[in-house]
Amino acid sequence: MSEELGTAPLTVPGVDPEKLLEYIGKLDGVSYTVISREGLPVYIKGEISKEEAEAVAALGEEALRRLEDSFGKLGGGRVTKLSVDVAQGRLYVSRLDGGVIIYRAIPRLADLLSEVIERLREQRPVKCQNCGHDLTLETYKCPRCGKTVPFIARECPHCGANIDIKRCPSCGVPIHSDGTLAKPPKAPIILGYIASIAMFAVGGAAMAINPTALPAGIASIVGGAIIAGGTYLISKRI
Ligand SMILES: [Zn+2]
Ligand SMILES: [Zn+2]
Repeated sequence: MSEELGTAPLTVPGVDPEKLLEYIGKLDGVSYTVISREGLPVYIKGEISKEEAEAVAALGEEALRRLEDSFGKLGGGRVTKLSVDVAQGRLYVSRLDGGVIIYRAIPRLADLLSEVIERLREQRPVKCQNCGHDLTLETYKCPRCGKTVPFIARECPHCGANIDIKRCPSCGVPIHSDGTLAKPPKAPIILGYIASIAMFAVGGAAMAINPTALPAGIASIVGGAIIAGGTYLISKRI
């Protein structure tokens, strides 16, 4: 059952709530999403009846409020999220401006979604280091299991596949899940080989010219070999 009670009128600073809901709607593994304001559901989507959504909405805001009261007495700050393990998944309650968003998803996905919402709230987007494209609300299709997952996932929350490196949907460059470039610039690798060749040459020349320089020459050649080996390993890792 899926029902929308009007549009979602809540906001996360710096994000269009429609975009957030559209993003959640694309992901596999979310059973339901409810947005509630003053304990009443204003948006319901997924495998949840209206009655269940009302119960979840009332509970969600009440739970956050009570937690905040308790933490307040202990000198704590504002409570922004709450997670509970429930049958077939994890229930998250996250505070938005003027209400809360509640969703149930498989645990690893629920944690990723929570990270996305926290990033939106704190205005810490994940951006492609090459083109600056905002990846926070991008999705990715896992090549192993075919499920649509958050772009920021380092491993697939469904099948566990390593999906840390993928192409930026905007510029196509291989990047890590945090937006950093997957391929380091080539210059350090070339410099590494040049340095090792130089050390071989210096070591060899030292030994040829002056036999007493044997230990220094050997040390130089060994150093050159270590740098060459290290550079080779780094270049293979890319
Ligand atoms: Zn997968
Ligand atoms: Zn890019």
